[in-house]
Amino acid sequence: MIYLDYNATTPVDAVVLDAMLPYFNEKFGNAASITHLLGTQAKDAVEIARAKIAQTINCEPQEFIFTSGSTEAINLAIKGVFQLYHKKGNHIITVKTEHKAVLDTCQYLQNKGATITFLNVDKNGLIDLAELEKSITDKTILVAIMYANNETGILQNISEITKIIHAKNSIFFCDATQAIGKIPVDVQALGIDLMCVSAHKIYGPKGIGGLFVRRKNPRVSLEPLIHGGGHERSLRSGTLNVPSIVGFGKACEIISYDNSIEKLRDKLEQALLHLFKNEIKINGKNAPRLPNTSNIMFPFKAVDFIRATKSSLAIATGSACTSAENLPSHVLTAMQLTKQEAERSIRFSLGRYTTEQEIVEVIRLISNLKNQA
Ligand code: PLP
Repeated sequence: MIYLDYNATTPVDAVVLDAMLPYFNEKFGNAASITHLLGTQAKDAVEIARAKIAQTINCEPQEFIFTSGSTEAINLAIKGVFQLYHKKGNHIITVKTEHKAVLDTCQYLQNKGATITFLNVDKNGLIDLAELEKSITDKTILVAIMYANNETGILQNISEITKIIHAKNSIFFCDATQAIGKIPVDVQALGIDLMCVSAHKIYGPKGIGGLFVRRKNPRVSLEPLIHGGGHERSLRSGTLNVPSIVGFGKACEIISYDNSIEKLRDKLEQALLHLFKNEIKINGKNAPRLPNTSNIMFPFKAVDFIRATKSSLAIATGSACTSAENLPSHVLTAMQLTKQEAERSIRFSLGRYTTEQEIVEVIRLISNLKNQA
């Protein structure tokens, strides 16, 4: 099986797994049980991991709150801001190409009295900064815009976006789930106020992630979703998942950037463009993109392709979270692809263990399919 679905999830790195294992049985203490050594050992391990994660995104360790993943962090950020600030204003701005975790949370709040603006994107998947600026009113309490899109890899211009939002005194939440580990993400340099990340996209375990919550310039406050015990500065109660947190920290520690993945991605794209000429289109090609992601529109239906390659190749149509719904991708249709064009589009996402031989094999597989068609 050739795995080119790293944007859906990644395998746990062997180094990460090794770091986690002692915390399941040997060092099994509760990080809140600071009355004995097993507890303080667990607490220390959590704080070391928190410091590593904070270093990765350039925040203070106490600004990072552990959650069960990005979906929970997104809920905490958006509902948490709305609950605390809705007397100041009820307006939230987001983008049509966001992950469903953001869109569904905003839709939920719409039923609770929020007014939501869903910004459009252009054919390249980018928002119009002037439209963003015009949309912000004195009732806008939050703007939620992702850094890297999970389906296309398209990168929004976050530093320009934060300047606009802060000039209008609103709060900015960024879903950086797909950006972290693939490109450097610095919350200070980018001016981000709230940001979610998830360990399973960076060779860490599933079920752990977190939310960066800015403590100064400006200090951002939130209403918690989960009460009880006062863990995580009372923002997220519940016994900490120590083994997973240790793994998350280790996954951050071993992040490294080089251009090898991008070279393989480009090799795949070049070969397919050569093979299909103008019968294919790379969605988002003219926008800044993640180095690992390629979303390609083929001259045949993606489902037929996937049926033919299911046992040998792991790829995706749309995102893992929405493919069960069997609808054309909301991301691609927002980028003005027709329903039929969206249905012909496939996401290839490469990762740490992708090899050149695998890419050569994928090109061969697709070439065979083309010849059979
Ligand atoms: N946001 C984006 C952009 C994602 O790609 C994902 C995962 O697919 C999520 C949020 C949800 O993350 P999690 O699986 O940690 O809940």
